[in-house]
Amino acid sequence: MNTPDSIHWHATPVGEVSALLESSSTTGLSEETVLTRLEQFGPNRISESKGSSEWKRFFLQFHQALIYILLAATGITMALGEWVDASVIFGVVLINAIIGYLQEAKAEKAINELANMLLTEATVRRDGQKRRIPSTELVPGDVVLLQSGDRVPADLRLMQLRNLQIEEAALTGESVPVEKQCCHLAADTMLAERSNQAFTGTLVTYGQGEGFVTATGDQTEMGRIAELIHSADPLQTPLTRKITQFSRLLLYVILGLAAMTFIIGIARGESWVDMFMAAVALAVGAIPEGLPAALTITLAIGVSRMAKRRAIIRKLPAVETLGSTTVICSDKTGTLTQNQMTVQEIHAGGRVYHVTGSGYETEGSIHYEETPVMIGENVALVETLGAGLLCNDSCLVHHPEGQTSVQGDPTEAALIVAAQKAGLTDEEMHGRLPRIETIPFESEYQYMATLHGKQEDPKIIYIKGSVEAVMERCTHALDTTGNLIPLNRARQTQCAEDMASRGLRVLAFARREMPGSHHRLEHGHISKELTFLGLQGKLDPPRPEAIAAVAQCQSAGIKVKMITGDHALTAKAVAQQIGLDTSTPALTGRELEQLSDEELADVAEQTSVFARVAPKQKLRLVKALQSHHHIVAMTGDGVNDAPALKQADIGTAMGITGTDVSKEAADMILTDDNFASIEAAVEEGRSVFDNLTKFIVWTLPTNFGEGLVILAAILTGTTLPIVPVQILWINMTTAILLGLMLVFEPKEKDMMDRPPRDPMMPILTRTLQLRIFLVALIMLAGCFSLFTWELDRGASVAEARTAAVNVFVMVEMFYLYNCRSFSRSIFAIGFFSNKWIIIGSLIMIVLQLLITYSPAMNTLFHTAPIGLDVWWRILAIATIAYLAVGIEKWITDRTHRSKGPIGSSPLE
Ligand code: ADP
Ligand code: MG
Repeated sequence: MNTPDSIHWHATPVGEVSALLESSSTTGLSEETVLTRLEQFGPNRISESKGSSEWKRFFLQFHQALIYILLAATGITMALGEWVDASVIFGVVLINAIIGYLQEAKAEKAINELANMLLTEATVRRDGQKRRIPSTELVPGDVVLLQSGDRVPADLRLMQLRNLQIEEAALTGESVPVEKQCCHLAADTMLAERSNQAFTGTLVTYGQGEGFVTATGDQTEMGRIAELIHSADPLQTPLTRKITQFSRLLLYVILGLAAMTFIIGIARGESWVDMFMAAVALAVGAIPEGLPAALTITLAIGVSRMAKRRAIIRKLPAVETLGSTTVICSDKTGTLTQNQMTVQEIHAGGRVYHVTGSGYETEGSIHYEETPVMIGENVALVETLGAGLLCNDSCLVHHPEGQTSVQGDPTEAALIVAAQKAGLTDEEMHGRLPRIETIPFESEYQYMATLHGKQEDPKIIYIKGSVEAVMERCTHALDTTGNLIPLNRARQTQCAEDMASRGLRVLAFARREMPGSHHRLEHGHISKELTFLGLQGKLDPPRPEAIAAVAQCQSAGIKVKMITGDHALTAKAVAQQIGLDTSTPALTGRELEQLSDEELADVAEQTSVFARVAPKQKLRLVKALQSHHHIVAMTGDGVNDAPALKQADIGTAMGITGTDVSKEAADMILTDDNFASIEAAVEEGRSVFDNLTKFIVWTLPTNFGEGLVILAAILTGTTLPIVPVQILWINMTTAILLGLMLVFEPKEKDMMDRPPRDPMMPILTRTLQLRIFLVALIMLAGCFSLFTWELDRGASVAEARTAAVNVFVMVEMFYLYNCRSFSRSIFAIGFFSNKWIIIGSLIMIVLQLLITYSPAMNTLFHTAPIGLDVWWRILAIATIAYLAVGIEKWITDRTHRSKGPIGSSPLE
């Protein structure tokens, strides 16, 4: 098949479209044709533009204040004829850029790979059958079926639809959904007005439709503009922005100080070359250049750890917000419960039946007062079970190994199993009453309806849904003999509530003869005069992991709230089993509607179970909680949940049962739909924050200390104890070999026993600021005094400087072990629990021996060999630093304990 680009699909009538594409609207393509076309057109994937952006990213590494300073320093040292210094400094600039580039590329790759884990699927008609396939396998000519919640998987020419509305913001920027139709249009119609086409990447917000694939992959409209989409910068979060701002501020301060040293020095009569080098040393030492890289790496590691625990991050800021989460609003069905439904009880014709058997195995039978029944005895029972079979979009899949799984909604699959236990089969029922039309289930209406009947026969509508939604439409009920009797509403409601309060999920069933001779089923046809058939109650046991995770959240100071479309009594019973606080009554959607925003904010705080909640009420709920400064994680799966997911701080979509629209709106996707994965993500989020804070607390004293040493030297008129190239050496090697190893720090045991981090709280609390000052002062005192001591002893300047450099590195190394925990000692958390730190330290020691004893390094870095006695003094200073921080930690921890337990939190 050839598809010339010049075809205006929107201007071609449907019949011609199918001929041009050599396809058929009723049977679709054959698998054979698909294979050849897949070869011809390639997979349906938009290729990423590479190349130019890689170079751009590399050169962006040079776009940093520190690099500019270093490049200037290179130029001036070169002009002064200091070739060695110039090349060392330039070498550092290059290495820095390469490392930065590689790290960033790796982080980005990790994040992009996650995107690929989320395979999207498409529903197609092939060989006359409906199939779910990965959307990468679509080819031109395929017939694609769309329904509300789907992401359009390829460019389509629509041929048949029902109230289809598509939101095309991704393509046109217009966020109001467009109403679609199938008639052909004028050839010069603009893209945004081609209402008979659907485009890749846009979202179906309402209705259903079918269309032919006209273009796939890069040939699609989205493929043509893909370059624009990929250029967005994904590695930014509020935290990185805050740190960038902080660094910029710091930069001005440091540049000011550097200028000041320069001027003071000149005023004292020093040579301007020396003073320039001092100013450069100050700037290089004081700027924390390792920070941005550490940040990116920590976030990237956090993202991949979360993915391993089945939470995929779609928007990077979520990684840090997760650590501050104070409320998790979770769906009930499938997230807190197993979504493994079994019908246990049936009410029909005034009788109560019990169903035996478990799961989706069809062994089991229906009992009335302890004895198995012949269902033919009760017409209402036959009709209730039959309605469950007919008004149903799921099916059971029997695997060769013996087990049975469900395709579709488990709520519905359970009904098939129940009917089969009574001997009713799908084939027989659908043979007698083939389906003509469907109104699919939507949480908003809480029911689903189907129209059945053979051509000549009268048509009949079956409806199933929540007890309230169905019962309010019924006037009559069916008795055991099949006669119509007036509906005893109070009694049926009582039965339903009785089941619900035992935690059963209750569905009501009804039917109606189609009024007139309509063929299209409308909501209006089932608004009244229905005949009530019966009730079925299903057990959906809680997930054991969810029970543990809820307990964990509670000890971590995170409130868990259940938000469900289910009945209040069912919700409450399940909440109790799961361990939620049920002391305050459940709030229903209807009650919620009566409250003002302020009232809701108060009530929402107290309530843990919200039942019969409509999706749009979820949005109000999120806002209400946020108005009380909560950081809210909210789950959702349907199209209408999207606004609430967007509003929530951590919008969480379901990977298995969620619609594409909800996934698109979410910050995080759970690959197993499990509440426990949210808790795991929160845990990882806290760990990310901890490790990052640890890095900052470790790195700042060095920058601070180096700055102070230079300042002190200028003010006292002493020779510089460390020169720029040495400072570069210290900062580069220790950041990578020591500091970054903190990123691999395992989670502290009691991390989930402390309250969530207040996002308004500064990263560095007062205690941590003091610790940073303390260490910086020890570095200053240790470095300065050893340097002058060595000079007084008659050592050369190079030897004294070597000693000074080693003081910095050794204090940093010892202090690194202090930094592994905010409040506990290294022996309490286990010396060997982070092997990376030990490996890094060993390599660092080797490098220090090299810079001290290798002649080549001596020339490059102006160092000289030192004696063993000097090493003892260096180690003594490092030990003093370690002990000083240890004592400070111990005192702080004790004073905090006396105020109440706060575990290992980054002390206030
Ligand atoms: P949740 O997912 O929170 O349990 P839903 O919105 O899925 O809530 O369901 C709300 C109510 O709608 C259920 O209590 C049930 O009575 C009814 N319901 C659920 N699924 C279906 C379905 N497939 N067909 C008809 N009614 C349904
Ligand atoms: Mg549901």
